[in-house]
Amino acid sequence: MARYTGPVCRMCRRESASGTKPGDKVKLFLKGERCLSKKCAVERRTAAPGQKAATKNRPKVSEFGRQLREKQKMRRIYGVLERQFENYFVKASRRKGQTGTALLGLLETRLDNVVYRLNLATSRKQARQLVRHRHFMLNGRRVNIPSAQMRPGDELALVGTSAKSPLFEWLLEYAKGRRVPGWLEYDEQNSKAKILAVPTRADIDTNVEEQLIVEYYSR
Ligand code: SF4
Repeated sequence: MARYTGPVCRMCRRESASGTKPGDKVKLFLKGERCLSKKCAVERRTAAPGQKAATKNRPKVSEFGRQLREKQKMRRIYGVLERQFENYFVKASRRKGQTGTALLGLLETRLDNVVYRLNLATSRKQARQLVRHRHFMLNGRRVNIPSAQMRPGDELALVGTSAKSPLFEWLLEYAKGRRVPGWLEYDEQNSKAKILAVPTRADIDTNVEEQLIVEYYSR
């Protein structure tokens, strides 16, 4: 599956400057530890990327503009391209309950996101790469599909030989003591995890207004 390979801090600055709530510093946390440091581009530059965007008298954002930005924001946070995101929305709209929450649930239970939520990667981008490099077993079988959909009861484990690599020695140390969401169970000793339930909206701390995305696709 294709993925975005362009500059990422640019995307953060765009969402920050055109955020639905003016003045909010919107961070998409795409670069791991750097996002928490002073080097973060959103901390250093508040203007949107591009010369025109930096001018002060920008027109007021329309309702459609807000919906579009929110959709782009969610897509970029989870590292999903346009067509795939549309497919997620179609799937979510067929589910019972609120479409926005179902959409978030589908994105949260992607394999790469689960690895990120377990703190076994510092960013979703890194989680994606680790999955592509076959470092994980899903229900006892090696897996290399970052978008694999996980369900309650599914078990994820780190491959034994990978756990001994210097990268994972560092990542396992990084993960120690960090908070894991309630819908996941993580056994630190054996580097194993289990999905307990599909996350509800209260379990997901992603800063998006999913209702605006539903409105965007309902035009
Ligand atoms: Fe966004 Fe992280 Fe870049 Fe900061 S460092 S602009 S949070 S991707």
